[in-house]
Amino acid sequence: MVKVVQLDNPVLRQKAREVAPEEIGTPQLNKIIDDMKKAMDACYDGVAIAAPQIGKSLRIFMVSPKAFIPPDEEITDEKLKKFKHLIFINPKITKLSTKTVRLDEGCLSVRGIFGKIRRSEKATIEAIDETGKKISRGASGLLAEIFQHETDHLDGILFVDKATDLYQLTQENEVPEKKSKNK
Ligand code: ZN
Repeated sequence: MVKVVQLDNPVLRQKAREVAPEEIGTPQLNKIIDDMKKAMDACYDGVAIAAPQIGKSLRIFMVSPKAFIPPDEEITDEKLKKFKHLIFINPKITKLSTKTVRLDEGCLSVRGIFGKIRRSEKATIEAIDETGKKISRGASGLLAEIFQHETDHLDGILFVDKATDLYQLTQENEVPEKKSKNK
């Protein structure tokens, strides 16, 4: 089983390389995408993951169907079935709103630590999907936050580099329903 690598792993600090067009659709690349999916879905609180988080220094990230369920709603298998895992290969943020929001953020590779971070409220991204098709997507809310968090991962940046008021969640003060959207 592929595990999510943690803070001390140097792969998280590398600038990931672009995926070449001829790699799209190959069994090797599809295996990496499948491993990302398994590693993320094994985390009850995982809403997105970048390839470096499973030790692969490639410009790929994925968004879980969980990201599309409103934060105040319970996540059920039935609701999850309505959405697909979205895959972004060689993503580029093409637009960021000047309006920012201060968010509580966490990361699957920095387990137990949360902090306040300022992100643009809206973001637009261009990428190719797992079939090689060009995609462009604008987002606000959690998805916009994910776009920014994940593209940072591809450049070797972790949220703890930018966050303030870092705090540790222990089992005693953990509120899973509040802190259930890690990436
Ligand atoms: Zn992360």
